Amino acid sequence: MQSIIAKKGQNKTNNTMIIAGPCSAETRSQVILAAKELADQNLDYFRAGIWKPRTRPNSFEGVGEIGLEWLKEVKEKYGMKCCIEVAVPAHVEMAIKAGIDAVWLGSRTTTNPFAVQEIATALSGVNIPVWVKNPMNADLNLWIGAIERIGQAGIDEIAAIHRGFSHYGPSVYRNEPIWEIPRALKSVFPEIPIIHDPSHIAGNTDLIEPLISRAMQENMDGLMIECHPDPSKAWTDAKQQIPSRNLGQLLAGIRSNSLRDLEAENLENWRREINYLDENLIHLLDKRAKLSLEIGRLKRTNNKAILQEKRWGEVLSRNVGIAQERNLNVDYISQLFELIHQESIRLQLDNVDSKQLVNGMP
Ligand code: PEP
Ligand code: MN
Repeated sequence: MQSIIAKKGQNKTNNTMIIAGPCSAETRSQVILAAKELADQNLDYFRAGIWKPRTRPNSFEGVGEIGLEWLKEVKEKYGMKCCIEVAVPAHVEMAIKAGIDAVWLGSRTTTNPFAVQEIATALSGVNIPVWVKNPMNADLNLWIGAIERIGQAGIDEIAAIHRGFSHYGPSVYRNEPIWEIPRALKSVFPEIPIIHDPSHIAGNTDLIEPLISRAMQENMDGLMIECHPDPSKAWTDAKQQIPSRNLGQLLAGIRSNSLRDLEAENLENWRREINYLDENLIHLLDKRAKLSLEIGRLKRTNNKAILQEKRWGEVLSRNVGIAQERNLNVDYISQLFELIHQESIRLQLDNVDSKQLVNGMP
């Protein structure tokens, strides 16, 4: 795809690889319609998952082999190259037989070196492009190891896909981008392109555009974007798919955004990150308050005073020490912990009454 980003002489100016298509192939007509709507978008590859690794059983696990026939039709009708996820050696064999142009290893597969090795072995001697999604967990070495295994199978065209990392607790993202990790991967394998997948990181359509613009600032080499003819009816990942007929508009919007002041764009991204950090601070304060209530309960049971000066002195000096190591202002951190401590005492005094002692956590 020609230049979608030309950012004041920096970063991407051409060759951003574009892969788009539905999360899952659902029916023949859905696949053909998605392809038709994307046909004039100058895609490098049309994607559609036909075997879907689902977290829980009894969900839709993909249409399977029949989907390969639909993709053959896409190739014939619209001349687009097609790519799918492969998760076991049998998928590789069927994909090759059906003339699939590129395959990728999903995030759940990359977490398992045995599974990666089996796929790598099935791929030896095949030599089509193979892309490796980052593992679910934020482990750079697992990602590196999977790429090495595919490389050792003799695959020449390897790319990495950055789809974010799973987390526990609230976040604005479905999967945390943790940009440091793809950056570190790039320094280990400078020659391996990295494709950004904003759809699985965002988990919704609102964050797709800002993620793409950040990915371009990070100098990523391609984009994999989930598109569906009617996202509200999608069988998988409905919230994060954009209407396929809107892809052109999204890419054009990014092109015009690239003319925007880079500083304004940074400001927007940083504010989003601040919001996310604030949300996490509140989540941590809530967790801390709940633990503090448990401690209050114990103190009550053991007839201990709520205010323990010695312990409070230790908490304060420990945290001030940590803050100093990070060059944070000592007064600010002391005042902050004073407030947190006061709230803990208030909670313990207010909430630890005999009724709650009997009934458990409020
Ligand atoms: C997908 O691309 O539809 C998919 C299942 O992705 P991931 O492996 O990133 O979850
Ligand atoms: Mn998906």
